[in-house]
This record gives sequence, C-alpha cells and structure tokens, in this order.
Amino acid sequence: MSIYPNVRFLKSAHGPGDFCEDFGAEVAFSGRSNSGKSSAINAIIHRRDLARTSKTPGRTQLVNFFELAPGERLVDLPGYGFAKVPPAMRDHWRRLMDAYFGSRSSLAGLMVVMDGRRPLTDTDWRMVEMAAGRGCLVHVLLSKCDKLTRNEARETLRRVRAELGEAASAQLFSAVSGEGVEEARGVLKAMLAHERPAAEAEPLTQPWEERG
Ligand code: GDP
Repeated sequence: MSIYPNVRFLKSAHGPGDFCEDFGAEVAFSGRSNSGKSSAINAIIHRRDLARTSKTPGRTQLVNFFELAPGERLVDLPGYGFAKVPPAMRDHWRRLMDAYFGSRSSLAGLMVVMDGRRPLTDTDWRMVEMAAGRGCLVHVLLSKCDKLTRNEARETLRRVRAELGEAASAQLFSAVSGEGVEEARGVLKAMLAHERPAAEAEPLTQPWEERG
C-alpha cells in the first residue's frame, strides 16, 4: 500500500510560467542522471510507475510535479551530469533550476540522490547549496548502497556527512534491498510538515564554480 494512496501526476513544467500554484508544501528530488533518483522516488512512494512519468521522452528535462496529498507535492527535478550535453541544454537546465529555487516559497526540502560510489559531484554540491542557501532542509540519499560492502558504506556515509557539515543530512539507501526506505519516508514526511521560514529566498550569488 502506498503511503500516499491518492498520489497523482500534476504537470510537467518547461519554465517558471508552467510551475504549479505555489501553496502548501513540496519536496524536490534531484540527482545526476542514472543516480537512482527514479528508483528512489518509486521505492519511497511505493508506486512502481510514479517516476516513470518523468522518464518519458520529452519530460526528462522538465520539472515534474506530483500531488502526494492535498497541499503536499513531490517535485522531480531534471537529472544532470550527462556526459555530452549541448551548451543550450545545459543553459536551459541552469536557468530552470535558478528559477525553481529562486521562486518556490512552498519548497520545504530537497532530497539529493547520489550514487553511493560517486557522491558529491560539483553539481550535487550546487544543488545542496541552492536549497540550503535559502533555508531549506536538505537530505542526501546515498543510493545503490547494496553495491558497497558494509565497511565501504559506513565509511562513505561518515565521509559524506563530514563534508556536508551543517548543510545537509545524509543516509544510506537502496531501492534494491530496501535499506533506508523507511528512514527516507520519515524524512520526506518531516520535511512536508516542517514549518518553513519566512519565504525570503536569498539571492543566488554562488557562481557555477568548480570544486576540487
Ligand atoms: P535515474 O536516472 O537517476 O532516475 O536512475 P534510475 O532509477 O533509472 O536508475 C538507474 C540505474 O540504476 C537502473 O539500471 C537501476 O536499475 C539502477 N538502480 C537504481 N537504484 C538502485 C539500487 O538501489 N541498487 C542497485 N544495485 N541498482 C539500482
């Protein structure tokens, strides 16, 4: 049984003009392409087909809104980190993300899905900073942890938590073994219920800097 039995696809947005009405609370999911974001969303919401909607041709570069319950939304942000992306597509993605993080006062939290074997890329950091910079809760799912040994998983989690510091929390996750699914559901629920600070989005001053 889904924890959100009436979940439904609302719309895909190509630009800020198409975003859903900005009320209630929403939690966004972001991640590199192939990080396991769709599998994580499906496992957490317990709907096998939910994030497939965002994967249909033509929708992968859009912001996809789902209603979990009245006034509560999940937002599937377009993946990033494709090996070869035309500059125009990358620019579109950056503008879309700036518009999204700069405008949504209902944004309660961000889940960043990272392949546990390759966490914290430059763009992962950019996502964390965009959300944390405006006072949003940020939580990192270290996905595919079934592919790591216990020691590797433990060490990765320790290192990622240390690097994130106050900016975000983090956990191990596997859509295959089910590890961390309940924990992630708890975080999602808490984010949606969290009282948001006055919606004063800080200006996005961070340039697209490269990190070491
Ligand atoms: P997305 O592009 O970020 O939405 O990633 P997908 O959810 O489509 O997953 C990308 C690939 O990783 C697929 O082949 C999945 O089957 C695989 N995958 C996703 N989650 C897991 C996981 O928890 N464990 C393992 N072993 N593979 C996974």
